[in-house]
Amino acid sequence: ESAPDTRSGPIVAIVGSGPIGSAYARELLEASPDLRVLMLEAGPQLTDIPGESVRNIPDPDEKAKARERSQGPQAGEHRASFGLPANARVEGMFTAREGTHLLDFGGEGSAHAETFPAAAASTNVGGMGAHWTCATPRPAGAERVAFIDDAEWDELIVEAEELLHVNTTAFGDSPIGGAIRSLLQEEFGAELPDAAGPSTLPVAGDPQPDGSMRWAGADVVLGPILDPSSPLAARFELRDLSLVRRIEHADGHVTAVTVQDLRTGSRYTEQVDAVVVAADTFRSPQLLWASGIRPTALGHYLTEHPVVISTVSLDGEGMSRYATEEDLQAELLRRSANPVDPVAAVNRIPYSEPDHTFSLQVMYAEKPPFPLDPSSPHAGNKWGYVNMGYGMRKQPRFEDGVTFDDGELDYRGFPNMTIRYELTDSEKAEIAQGTELLKRAGEALGTFIAQPRLLPNGSSLHFQGTMRMGETDDGTSVADGYSRVWGFDNLVVGGNALIPTATTMNPTLMSVAIAVRGARALAERLTS
Ligand code: FAD
Repeated sequence: ESAPDTRSGPIVAIVGSGPIGSAYARELLEASPDLRVLMLEAGPQLTDIPGESVRNIPDPDEKAKARERSQGPQAGEHRASFGLPANARVEGMFTAREGTHLLDFGGEGSAHAETFPAAAASTNVGGMGAHWTCATPRPAGAERVAFIDDAEWDELIVEAEELLHVNTTAFGDSPIGGAIRSLLQEEFGAELPDAAGPSTLPVAGDPQPDGSMRWAGADVVLGPILDPSSPLAARFELRDLSLVRRIEHADGHVTAVTVQDLRTGSRYTEQVDAVVVAADTFRSPQLLWASGIRPTALGHYLTEHPVVISTVSLDGEGMSRYATEEDLQAELLRRSANPVDPVAAVNRIPYSEPDHTFSLQVMYAEKPPFPLDPSSPHAGNKWGYVNMGYGMRKQPRFEDGVTFDDGELDYRGFPNMTIRYELTDSEKAEIAQGTELLKRAGEALGTFIAQPRLLPNGSSLHFQGTMRMGETDDGTSVADGYSRVWGFDNLVVGGNALIPTATTMNPTLMSVAIAVRGARALAERLTS
């Protein structure tokens, strides 16, 4: 069965509707008046506006339902397998963060990821971008891709920031946020470069007149494509619950995708002129593998930034050196305008070379993320709390990664995944250093109510490297500098999996910048 071909120009299939697939759609459609895009997404559409952040859903029940629906087909059963009630919504190792599902969920067809237990994915229109925290710092120094020159990189990053609606001064006027920065500056200022001291954390979203934030998802990246009156909309089609099972190809040229309609179970083939695979760091290489596309580096060089987190009760004496009681009341009033969205002032100390090769993020909250014993001196602290954590480097190594087994299929019928991952001594040493820095930050701000602790591997949700980009086809990369799979003329890959470096920050902005470069090159090839 083949869907009718209504093409007027080259058609590009995009696998996955997260921020990266959406960046490809936007850049391709805007680059040429002839190109058409067919976006195929395995998960359901959650919101009326495709790909919107579920954090913007005001009704708590509707929000919970949208998260539940993103957790993949095995979500309900897998919760039951851990003895949790069907309606439990627990964030943590077993059920993964809300809106995500663990790869190694323990049931039939589960991946094997004992050494990377918190690895998770989202399956819905907008991908993880419907659930993300929206932190969008720029990579710095050695985090960047060395072979893309600075001027071009800076332009790509600016374009990526526009696509994601990045706001570098979010909550910048919050006096509580300002007091937190001042206390961190007192502690660390003398040892940091001037341009890399405590600052507001850039986030993707649009501040609203009432002081709240409309958080960005894939919807803002798609932007004008979602306006039915836009000429871009006529050349774009999004099909949800459409699982791409195989990329058809011959002699380094992609010809079609085989898709399963998950509503009916039927399969069909779409002839296309190019394919972009942006189906996340584990499922993209799995789809390539299942399609017989198996470069040596595929699945390898897996990294994430290890995370050490803690919660601190803010010290009133310290805070009141920089913020008044009236400031605090004004902040609480502003927060009460939007009780369903608990994020307030967000600060950070960015990565800088040579000494601070870590990223600190500090989220202010009125309440701690867990109940405190009412007899605790920190219960009901009127100055509030911060949840904060350091991201640290993990150097890419061939031996860390995901392998696929043709002889054992996973719950979707794809070659099952086994993830092998290990922190080396040098990484453990950096984690110890970062933990010390976190202790200092906590003591500068108040008292720990949750001591710094290293989260299990995979907890960052920032999985990188399994389809890394490289300058030459020397077996250590999957794609060239324009994200085209080595040996193919019309197969492009996208996502955090392309990042070839050790990074400490949230990767989506960087991956969108890489996607912009890849999309421009693809549009040029298809239209020239
Ligand atoms: P995804 O968003 O993962 O989308 C991939 C899509 O592909 C999915 O919808 C999936 O269903 C689909 N797919 C997979 N296989 C197939 C197939 N065979 N056929 C069809 N479709 C398929 N990043 C940051 O930079 N900053 C943050 O603050 C941040 N916070 C986060 C907080 C949470 C709770 C989560 C879950 C993630 C967070 N992230 C953050 C990570 C961020 O969301 C991801 O980096 C980003 O979404 C990656 O975009 P993507 O398009 O590459 O992949």
